[in-house]
Amino acid sequence: MHIIVCIKQVPDTEELPRVRVNPEDNTIVREGIKSIINPFDENAIEEAIRIKEKNSAVVTVISMGPPQAKDALRKALAMGADKAILISDPVFAGSDTLATSFTLSEAIRKIGNFDLILLGKQAIDGDTAQVGPGLAEWLGIPQVTYVRRLEIKDKLIKVERVLEDCFEIVEVKLPAVVTVTKEINEPRYPSLKGLLRARKAEIPVWGNDYLGLPLDKVGLDGSPTRVTKVFVPEPPPKGKIIEGDLNQKVEKLIEEIKKRDLLKWLR
Ligand SMILES: Cc1cc2nc3c(=O)[nH]c(=O)nc-3n(C[C@H](O)[C@H](O)[C@H](O)COP(=O)(O)OP(=O)(O)OC[C@H]3O[C@@H](n4cnc5c(N)ncnc54)[C@H](O)[C@@H]3O)c2cc1C
Repeated sequence: MHIIVCIKQVPDTEELPRVRVNPEDNTIVREGIKSIINPFDENAIEEAIRIKEKNSAVVTVISMGPPQAKDALRKALAMGADKAILISDPVFAGSDTLATSFTLSEAIRKIGNFDLILLGKQAIDGDTAQVGPGLAEWLGIPQVTYVRRLEIKDKLIKVERVLEDCFEIVEVKLPAVVTVTKEINEPRYPSLKGLLRARKAEIPVWGNDYLGLPLDKVGLDGSPTRVTKVFVPEPPPKGKIIEGDLNQKVEKLIEEIKKRDLLKWLR
């Protein structure tokens, strides 16, 4: 069995106050910002390794991103993935979810022979949750999103899919795309042996000279989404603190409610 895990490197949440947006194209300026593996993608890696441990699978991890995304791939190797490939080329920069899922799908076709593709449910920076479904569409294979439990049954998988107030049990034929939630597992820490192996591992970089994708389907030119404005929302107005003993507070509160005609919302 061959499992491919798609991972994205995202800014560390602790770095959020330092994250800036390029005013020219509204993309995130990632240089100089500490990055981590998107947390949901760590769950996807962990699930792939657990399947490998039970079913003797091979796990390949891929990421599309700038050269520093190799660090994320190395961590995945240290956790127990077998191979890693970085998809990186200046012509892929500025990709929206359509172009990202297209580029990933073509890289996966190039890898070939896959049974299961795992992704996180969403990236904590872009946050769209569109790349997994987009990938399945480009590859023309089934998809199940928001999965919290996964069981391999020969050429089928049985999964539990989280919905708002219940969960759904779905059986899907492989090959398929699955996006996972945090509930599915607890990602392991890399072992020392894993870290040493990952440090030495060769990570091939596939650019467009290798993938040969049409330039109007990748990067900014292949991205119909235009971010017209990015801004930090205004903080909500400050509340008013009512002072005094309990009776005074209640009287002042009633006065305030009448003055602002707040009860109209209940009528
Ligand atoms: C006009 C425009 C320009 C943009 N320019 C850039 C840019 O220059 N650089 C940039 O990083 N982002 C850029 N973005 C954001 C970029 O489109 C998204 O981050 C990216 O397409 C993934 O979408 P998302 O973050 O919402 O991922 P989601 O769809 O929320 O991610 C779901 C899952 O898909 C997988 N995944 C997502 N992205 C990747 C990836 N790159 N490689 C492997 N697996 C992945 C992960 O498993 C992830 O958990 C741009 C967006 C727009 C609209």
